[in-house]
Amino acid sequence: MDRLFKILETIDGRGYKAYKEIKGKYRFEDLTLFIDHVQGDPFATPSRLRVRVSQSFARFDRTLFSNRSRKTALEDYLVRVFSQSIKKYSKGIRGTGKSGLIYIDCGKQEIMERTAVIVNDDFVEARFYLGLPARGRRVLGIQCRNIISEEIIKTALSSLFFRSLDSKDLNRFIDVSEDQDHLRSQLEAKSLVAFIANGSILPRRSGISDLPLSASKAVAFTSPPQLEVSLETIHSGTVRGMGIPQGVTIIIGGGFHGKSTLLSAIERGIYNHIPGDGRDRSVSIDSCVKIRAEEGRSVQKVNISSFISNLPLDKNTEKFSTSNASGSTSQAANIIEALECRAGLLLLDEDTSATNFLIRDTVMQKVVPKEKEPITPFIDQVRNIYEELGTSSILVMGGSGDYFDVADTVIMMDNYTPVLATARAKDAISSFRDKRARESGKTFGRITERCPVPSSIDPYRGKRVKVKSRGLDHIIFGSLDIDLSAVEQITDTSQVNTISDIILHALRMRYINGTNTIMQILDLVFEDIRKNGLDILSGREEGHPGSYAACRKFEAAAAINRIRSLQVKQK
Ligand code: ADP
Ligand code: MG
Repeated sequence: MDRLFKILETIDGRGYKAYKEIKGKYRFEDLTLFIDHVQGDPFATPSRLRVRVSQSFARFDRTLFSNRSRKTALEDYLVRVFSQSIKKYSKGIRGTGKSGLIYIDCGKQEIMERTAVIVNDDFVEARFYLGLPARGRRVLGIQCRNIISEEIIKTALSSLFFRSLDSKDLNRFIDVSEDQDHLRSQLEAKSLVAFIANGSILPRRSGISDLPLSASKAVAFTSPPQLEVSLETIHSGTVRGMGIPQGVTIIIGGGFHGKSTLLSAIERGIYNHIPGDGRDRSVSIDSCVKIRAEEGRSVQKVNISSFISNLPLDKNTEKFSTSNASGSTSQAANIIEALECRAGLLLLDEDTSATNFLIRDTVMQKVVPKEKEPITPFIDQVRNIYEELGTSSILVMGGSGDYFDVADTVIMMDNYTPVLATARAKDAISSFRDKRARESGKTFGRITERCPVPSSIDPYRGKRVKVKSRGLDHIIFGSLDIDLSAVEQITDTSQVNTISDIILHALRMRYINGTNTIMQILDLVFEDIRKNGLDILSGREEGHPGSYAACRKFEAAAAINRIRSLQVKQK
């Protein structure tokens, strides 16, 4: 510490490059400060620092991180406390550029594995960023010393030591998260694909906020009695709620009665939520994938022939490629790509689907004969997908009753409360005389896997690798832009960062070699992550990786599939 402060005094007032001298490792009373990477100028990305506290001082009991689920929750919690402590102690940006800025990569409503805090048997480590302060391009050494001693050290002392935390709050956070993993682990054995606990608050505060709608405005969830199931938690007894069975489920109901809100909650049920979120006892199977239409996306040799064949101009749909997909072809490609990655549950909402992909009614069948319609609508394949591939579907479908014919379960949303309507729906459709004819063949057909060609995934712009995530929706990849705005289950900007480095890692390790399928490539990458943690993705020579949050294979595959230069060979 003394050595660091001495250097800072010495370089005070000198040119910004003099900051390079503080790179290193410094012992403070109860902790070690690492300055791993020093920014080149006050406007650049802030410098990368770490604080490490030995467990002999930090004193987190083993039981707090005794399995993967608890470890992830503990680490996520510590990032949150660290981030709040920054707000308390940091005086924020002052001086030139990012001078004085301190930040750590913190989650919101979801609890997920991230690299910002690591806990193990030996130590607790926080990885964060500091804008080294300057006036113009002159080092503010004395101010930097004060930031370290007054802001960073105090932040660390109030967040990385067990004794400074509210242990009740911490235990609850970890237990609530572990319970969600436990709930999720019971779904398959009970032949369920999703579970929504009674009392859940599903609606969000607004279209741009993921916070729960206030309890006074929200109708709490109650299961229809026929779908009610009991699941066990580890820490809070039995939970009752609605279990959605495997198979084909249709959600119907009047406009504005809460159909899409229910589907969104199922879509987010792949994540654990923080206590008080309202969805913190609602879970879906891991392999649940939201599917939507995505006009304009590029598609590379996807076999969409189960849905689309005989396109005008004889375009081949067993190897369907386009740089500008239509609503229906993009939705078909999204489904096949999800099935290539073994999706176990597809979620579709009429609000974000192509109508002609979902339905084709009796009258239309009479006027436009099957030979003139390239599309086999989803309604004619949804059962094949379940019966042949074991992949369930949940559809929000308020606009057409045709789906009653193919549904195993019909849930009607009535004033934000679900009612089981299967019998009524089946009754109505069986008494209907002029039923539509089924248009699919007997089988869905096989899923054709694809192997990306490495040279078509080029991270270089000029002579340098240029790969950067931009918010929730974009990855700058070499000279291309990958648009992820239709990949709706990405919820955290740091996941996008992870996804871009997954692609780079797969290239670096030559997992993308022209003969591995997308699924095989991702299996290899995720095996590396499982063994070594997300840190493995960082190819950087200096500094911590800092801002990764876990993502699934589905989202990583979605990014690969949206690289506009992508070329593949079909397996
Ligand atoms: P639908 O898809 O049936 O048209 P939405 O799910 O979009 O309906 O919901 C319509 C509105 O009602 C939204 O503003 C949503 O936030 C709100 N909402 C949904 N569920 C509830 C609920 N349980 N309690 C209160 N408001 C809700
Ligand atoms: Mg809707």
